Amino acid sequence: MQKDGWYTEEWAGQGSAISLRVKEKVHDEQSVYQRIEIFETETFGTLMTLDGLVMVTDRDNFVYHEMMSHPALFTHHHPRKVLIIGGGDCGTLREVLKHDEVEHVDQVELDERVTRVSERFFPELCAANDDPRAHLHFQDGIQWVKDAKAGSYDVIIVDSTDPVGPAAGLFGQAFYADCYRALNRDGIVVGQSESPLFHSDLIKSMHEALRQANFLDVATLHFPQCTYPSGWWSATLARKDATLATFREEACCERPFATRYYNDGIHRAAFASPEFLFKALL
Ligand code: SAM
Repeated sequence: MQKDGWYTEEWAGQGSAISLRVKEKVHDEQSVYQRIEIFETETFGTLMTLDGLVMVTDRDNFVYHEMMSHPALFTHHHPRKVLIIGGGDCGTLREVLKHDEVEHVDQVELDERVTRVSERFFPELCAANDDPRAHLHFQDGIQWVKDAKAGSYDVIIVDSTDPVGPAAGLFGQAFYADCYRALNRDGIVVGQSESPLFHSDLIKSMHEALRQANFLDVATLHFPQCTYPSGWWSATLARKDATLATFREEACCERPFATRYYNDGIHRAAFASPEFLFKALL
């Protein structure tokens, strides 16, 4: 909602909200799937919302995109083939392609308009879209995984909207069972898992669904994301046949690319569980 020079997102059912002072709205369209709005803000740069909810800002998207990609990629022993579901702003794709060992990325985004609008208003997030390893597809990610051959991917990243509408199926056991089959031995799936403070029940249900899908190890990592509900966000990872407790620490420390949030210390610390969530996941 935009009023009196502020964009405000009310956090459903939480009696709280976030407001960003905006200079002007520079784009507004209704795609087949959602309303896409772009604002120029006073202090967070460009802001994209989908159906009125914050998706990405210039100022803080680096935390989310780095934490949705590097922990999983440095945990896998040799990630060659990666699938990104959603991720239409292409920030996660850019981070994944920083890993030289990655040979092929399929990005399956439901709404092509999100990517085309991002190419215009977030060109730095889309800077890697022309990488020959990047393959952009515009269709339902749930069906894509259902149709994928067994062992197609080393890492699957679910960079989706909240678990409602077309994204709801990306948080359930049937989808995770399809991911299990589509992943290689020791493969990893990572999904954005909302706010630990506001949505611990969802995180618990994701852990249960992933274990029902036969993943051996499941873990949730935490990071700040000041423009998302509660300002505290998470991603939940699951791995076939191997632990998530160790990662390629040397490769992480000697990585040939810059990050602004992720490093080896953050990797270790992000998996530490707050007591209330630890108990909720028992
Ligand atoms: N960082 C954001 C967040 O955590 O809410 C997500 C960014 S990205 C823009 C989310 C994308 O998921 C949207 O572009 C949306 O179209 C896409 N999406 C939702 N359901 C999908 C599905 N079933 N298959 C593929 N993409 C989907």
